[in-house]
Amino acid sequence: MPTLVDSHCHLDFPELAGRIDLILDAMGVAGVAYALCAGVSLERFPGLLSLVEAHPGLFAAVGVHPDEQGGVEPDVATLVALARHPKVVAIGETGLDYHRIEGDLEWQRARFRTHIHAAKEAGKPLIIHTRSAADDTLRIMRDEGAALAGGVMHCFTETWEVAEAAIALGFYISFSGIVTFRNAQALKEVARMLPLERVLIETDAPYLAPTPHRGKINEPAYVLHVAREIAALRGISLEELALASTQNFFRLFPTAHPQ
Ligand SMILES: [Zn+2]
Ligand SMILES: [Zn+2]
Repeated sequence: MPTLVDSHCHLDFPELAGRIDLILDAMGVAGVAYALCAGVSLERFPGLLSLVEAHPGLFAAVGVHPDEQGGVEPDVATLVALARHPKVVAIGETGLDYHRIEGDLEWQRARFRTHIHAAKEAGKPLIIHTRSAADDTLRIMRDEGAALAGGVMHCFTETWEVAEAAIALGFYISFSGIVTFRNAQALKEVARMLPLERVLIETDAPYLAPTPHRGKINEPAYVLHVAREIAALRGISLEELALASTQNFFRLFPTAHPQ
């Protein structure tokens, strides 16, 4: 069984952090050799960094999630400085989320722009979260030259047209456990049609556990179920999907060194 990568998870969250050794053991059994832990706030970042420093298969991204309110607001210089750490391979997660928060969200758009500037300056790709905000997300990506940094649309749930637009900007598309859900027919179609060299897989653990673990606490080992689903949708072997998505991961994040 070839190596798998969970391209997006939150192992520092309390649901997972207390049993990290068990989670790493389960990853080993499932063939998941690497996981990228996305940042959600600057306050949590030191804890995230010490976690990935302690384990060779873990990498980090630095960023402040669009749903975070009331914490330290990131500026470009701070993000660039934190991104210099050798285990920080990306900027994020960042983006727009109009689903969870209402009102004037200009602050979210400004924060997103800050992350794009930082990614270009740091020379590291973006991890983009977009929910109920695809048009504004793509517009800001174009306005700010996000193509120069590249990156991934994580936990993708948008239409084929949005996927095409992101690919045109040089971005990758990452599928979470949502693609295994019976009611996700349109998303399954995107996963079937997307060029294989643009496909990444993730868990977004502790959230969004794939079938057959739906509703439980998610963990990186379960990315195997995402891989199986996409391979089946495309009519290719699990081995081929694993090989391609792992190669894609290390192509997108060149400072993540396989060990
Ligand atoms: Zn996200
Ligand atoms: Zn996330």
